[in-house]
Amino acid sequence: MAERYDFDYFVIGGGSGGVRSARIAGAHGAKVGLAEERDLGGTCVNVGCVPKKLFTYAAHFAHDFEDAAGYGWTLGERSFSWRTLIENKNREIARLNGVYRRLLEGAGVEIFDTRATLEDTHTIRLGDGRKVTARTILIAVGGWPTRPSEPGTELGITSNEAFFLEDLPKHITVCGGGYIAVEFSGIFKALGVEVTHLYRGRSLLRGFDRDLGQSLATEMMKQKIDLRFETIISRLSQTGDGLAATLSDGRLLETGTVLFAIGRTPMTEGLGLEKAGVARDAMGAIVVDAEYKTNIDNIYAVGDVTNRVNLTPVAIAEGHIVADRLFGNRSRALGYEFIPTAVFSNPPIATVGYTEEAARKTYGAVDVYRTSFRPMKHTLSGRDERTVMKLVVDKGTDRVVGAHMIGPDAPEIMQGVGIALNAGATKAQFDATIGIHPTAAEEFVTLRTPLPPPAPTED
Ligand code: FAD
Ligand code: NDP
Repeated sequence: MAERYDFDYFVIGGGSGGVRSARIAGAHGAKVGLAEERDLGGTCVNVGCVPKKLFTYAAHFAHDFEDAAGYGWTLGERSFSWRTLIENKNREIARLNGVYRRLLEGAGVEIFDTRATLEDTHTIRLGDGRKVTARTILIAVGGWPTRPSEPGTELGITSNEAFFLEDLPKHITVCGGGYIAVEFSGIFKALGVEVTHLYRGRSLLRGFDRDLGQSLATEMMKQKIDLRFETIISRLSQTGDGLAATLSDGRLLETGTVLFAIGRTPMTEGLGLEKAGVARDAMGAIVVDAEYKTNIDNIYAVGDVTNRVNLTPVAIAEGHIVADRLFGNRSRALGYEFIPTAVFSNPPIATVGYTEEAARKTYGAVDVYRTSFRPMKHTLSGRDERTVMKLVVDKGTDRVVGAHMIGPDAPEIMQGVGIALNAGATKAQFDATIGIHPTAAEEFVTLRTPLPPPAPTED
């Protein structure tokens, strides 16, 4: 390529989307630079999916120890060391940071361990004041936890800090009803922390099939999580050894720590977007077209900064597609309709496709198949926990357009179901598939009778 620019491709942000895009572009022969102001691997590796999943493993042991008694096991005295977990987690993440660095270097990517901002459409200013130019720029700067605006709420923490707490508090208040809030409530509770969970709405996990949020709320309450709906913190203040929260219902709550998990904001402030003329939406997210191009011809954006489907595999796929199209002469589109996703709550949730409600709006007539049962493991463990599984089928075509599950192994099970839905599988094809016995997963191929249609509502 012409030597007019220092780089063919410059990636701002070394997280899921940026690293993949830079690596693939480098492998296609492009001269690539990448700037990362914190740690390579981004949110997912450092303060997201990876440490969160490690924490959920830690949490599950608590349940496994209890469940073992019904199977004849007597366990000795148990204790849990949060500090050991944090140290081991930090070591694993440092290892992954190194893996990411080596992958980028192996693809010939020049790494700048610094903040980068836009000076104009082709110029990037680095943290030390240096300027570099690039023919094409990818913005993959991700998001940052949103904080509430109520007085004193700066005393609380977000998921970023939750991964580095020095000690576990005796009591934590978790605010929010989305992925992060329910995941952390489950983790802290299992690790022995008393949890009060506040959500401003009436049903957890808005956007998911309603059965899932409702079932999760039931399970959380069985675990003695103090779950309160339609409640937020209206004021937070410091006490001797903790915090005092004044709640929107007027009650006072004494707590050790407050974790705010109320969404994430695209990290576009101070990025120089206005200098380059890159357009943002009202939430601050970068607006892109179907090829991830911004309103400026040579500037692209992928991942959480575009605030569409904020999941690691999506950011990775988007970054990969951009690099392939620009440097590999390969064009493909990502389907957003049937993206499987999981919430690592306790019990976990996984889902793909349309909720029952959304399917009725989109397809009109749908059949809904639903089962609720006590997992086989708990027949002997005695644990009072129910699994719910659900299929939503377009009546017109017999295509399965939604699959939803709450229960052990739901995320592992849903990955395969996701392939079936992406391939357009019909209910008849689910039925023709032999189940694996005895598993919970086999329920997805043995659901025979649809639920009666809901009674018509007045509106
Ligand atoms: P990021 O991974 O956020 O990377 C952006 C990078 O850009 C960061 O490293 C940042 O430091 C850097 N950066 C920002 N501005 C600049 C700048 N000006 N100059 C240089 N560098 C800059 N997703 C899942 O699929 N599964 C999960 O289980 C899951 N769990 C999660 C748990 C938590 C607690 C959180 C917060 C998120 C979780 N996610 C999960 C979401 C997932 O982490 C994100 O969707 C994903 O990381 C987005 O990738 P990205 O490349 O868009 O941004
Ligand atoms: P979510 O968008 O999932 O949930 C935000 C929650 O906060 C909602 O319940 C929302 O309520 C509530 N909320 C928003 N604003 C306020 C406010 N001002 N006061 C009180 N409550 C408020 O965000 P998260 O922070 O949980 O996670 C961010 C994203 O990261 C997720 O959407 C997901 O894309 C990704 N992620 C993925 C994970 C996974 O794949 N397992 C795990 C963790 C994160 P309401 O519903 O009423 O709007």
